[in-house]
Amino acid sequence: MTPRGLRQPSAPKLLSAQTLVHYSLHFVFPAALALVFFPLMWQTAYLIMLATMLMDLDHLLATPVFDPLRCSVGYHPLHSFYAIPVYALLLLLPATQIVAVGLLFHLFTDTVDCLWSFRHCHECYLNSRIHGLLDWVRKLLGREEVG
Ligand SMILES: [Zn+2]
Repeated sequence: MTPRGLRQPSAPKLLSAQTLVHYSLHFVFPAALALVFFPLMWQTAYLIMLATMLMDLDHLLATPVFDPLRCSVGYHPLHSFYAIPVYALLLLLPATQIVAVGLLFHLFTDTVDCLWSFRHCHECYLNSRIHGLLDWVRKLLGREEVG
């Protein structure tokens, strides 16, 4: 058995529960969001939300482009902690609300995926920008890191 905390060299399973949940959140759940928040034009809203997945094009700037053990939230430019407040502001403008919901829900989906990965890769958590952000907040609040 591999000690906890070491990077797992094996590739993640293609059809794991994590993968299933991740792609359901990316492709199925936006339809529910569209029906709830934009019932009169839910089909259009759904397609716009699917289009917000184009934000993943920022992965092309990274080396390697795809790393299953890397958390995209906080790492890639369009997934950065600077971009999130901008997406939140887009919620305030009627013309950009659907795009904003799509972008923010995309980040929520990616965060769920990261937290799921951290459960079996503690080093991935320690290397993530989410950990860096939490560490920064702890220091700001004058609290020491527990573990
Ligand atoms: Zn993403």
